[in-house]
This record gives sequence, C-alpha cells and structure tokens, in this order.
Amino acid sequence: MRIDLHTHSNISDGTQTPAELVAAAAQARLDVMALTDHDSTAGWAEALEAAHEHGVGLVPGMEISCKTDRGVSVHLLCYLQDPAHPGLLEEITKARTARLSRAERMVELLSEDYPLSWADVNDHVAPGATIGRPHIADALVAAGVVADRSEAFASILTSRSRYFVSHYAPDPVQAVELVRAAGGVPVFAHPVAAARGRVAPPEVFHDMIDAGLLGLEVDHRDNPPEGREWLRKLAAETGMIMTGSSDYHGAGKPNLLGENLTDPSALERILGHGTGTKPFLQ
Ligand code: AMP
Ligand code: ZN
Ligand code: FE
Ligand code: FE
Repeated sequence: MRIDLHTHSNISDGTQTPAELVAAAAQARLDVMALTDHDSTAGWAEALEAAHEHGVGLVPGMEISCKTDRGVSVHLLCYLQDPAHPGLLEEITKARTARLSRAERMVELLSEDYPLSWADVNDHVAPGATIGRPHIADALVAAGVVADRSEAFASILTSRSRYFVSHYAPDPVQAVELVRAAGGVPVFAHPVAAARGRVAPPEVFHDMIDAGLLGLEVDHRDNPPEGREWLRKLAAETGMIMTGSSDYHGAGKPNLLGENLTDPSALERILGHGTGTKPFLQ
C-alpha cells in the first residue's frame, strides 16, 4: 500500500487543481492520498469526485498554520474533521482574512524595490484560494526577480526578510482542541524542520499531546535524521501515530508524490479516530 497523507492543490499554494492533483496521485501509483490544503477544505468536493474517477483512496484533510505565544510557527495537519465545525471554521476564516491583508502589505513593501503589483500576485492565485508567500514568489519569478520559489524563500521572502509580515494564526494547543472537537485527527506536520525557522521546544509538544494530539509526521524531507530519531522515541513514549508524507506542491516545490509513505497500520489508527467526515476508500 502506498499512502501519502500530505499534499497541496491550488486551493492553497500547490500548482494543480484538486482534480489534477488526484490524477497525479494515480499516476504516482498511490493507493491513498490526503488533500491537506492550508487553512481550507474548499478542494474536498472536487478531489473526492476525481478520487472516484481514478480509483485513488482519499482522506480529506487540512494543514493549519499555527503560532505559539513565543512566535514559533507550528503546522498542524488534520484529517477527517467536520469541515463545518463552527469553532474551527471561525479560526481558519480569521487566519485566511489575515493572510490576505498580510500579503497586500508584503506586496506594498516589495513594490518599493521590485517591479511587483498586487495584480501581478493575484494572477497566480486561484479564485478563493488561501493566499501565501508562494503566490508572491510566483509573481517574483514571472517578473524575473528570482528563478523559482525556492530562491524567493531563500532570499526576499524568508521570515527574516525586511519584507516579511506575519499574520494571525491560532495557538497550536487551541488548534489541537478544535480539531478534536470537530471529530478530526490532529498530526504535527514536519515538527523538527529546522531549516524553516525556529522549531517548537519539547514543552510545546507535550502541551499539544496533553490537548489531544494524535500523531507526528516523522518522515518528511525537512526533518533531519537526528530529529526523526527524537520523534520516534517521543512517539513510542506517548503512543503518537507516526506518519510519512511528501508535502507535494505540484511544480511549486521539488517534493514528489510518494517520496515518503505512511504505514497502513498508522492509517488504520487515523481512520479509527476520525469521526467528522468520511474518507473515500476502495
Ligand atoms: P506562508 O503560509 O505564506 O507563511 O508561506 C509558507 C508556505 O510556503 C509553506 O506552506 C510552504 O509550503 C511554502 N514554502 C516554504 N518554503 C518554501 C520553499 N523553499 N520553496 C517553496 N515553497 C516554500
Ligand atoms: Zn504550502
Ligand atoms: Fe507545512
Ligand atoms: Fe504542507
């Protein structure tokens, strides 16, 4: 069984429509995939239809951008949650609204030094999509400022850049509680990805576990080997489900579908906990 539980479509910052993404998953011989767009479930219906068509199992999901009170970024994957749960919906709506004004502000700052307008950025955002720095990166690529998203993130779009603006994001403990309240399965995404910025300290892991966290994304290209060992030990001690995934973004990132996989027994445990929505499985 080839199971990949972390992918993005153009409903957030992936480059393929949900239907194209599912077709690519079939091409990559995945048996089961999860669609986990940032702060949005708007791609579920289209993905589900394509999953039926291509015979690919689909676990509906989402990736919530969170931030601790110390300003550390935490990404929380969730699976099988009720997409209409009012508390969760309110948080992601608030985050998506904040992402929009934040992107506008970043473009304003960037436009002082680079040939970039809001319309240029908007050209790269699908209608209703969750906007993020990757869309700004795409406009910078089109303007010839950088060669690709990776170069943009390594230079003018890093969180240390003078053009960087932060946005509202829920606290990870609160997000874990909301996901559980919505019948979903919360899994800490790329928890030790040091190259992305500061990593959450152990007390954040323990607070999230106490709040109802159910899993850790151990096998992800951004988790270094020592970090994965630490995660495996933590999972053994606390009973966390361990997952492995690609974090595929279409042409937006080098990550390939199926480059990391999740064990069928881990998927079984996720399916056992998720009560907010139904997966599509063969
Ligand atoms: P934002 O949500 O606006 O803070 O942007 C963060 C998103 O950009 C993450 O979801 C990543 O998938 C994406 N990202 C981060 N680093 C890179 C990179 N080096 N190349 C392409 N995309 C990236
Ligand atoms: Zn992304
Ligand atoms: Fe992430
Ligand atoms: Fe992701």
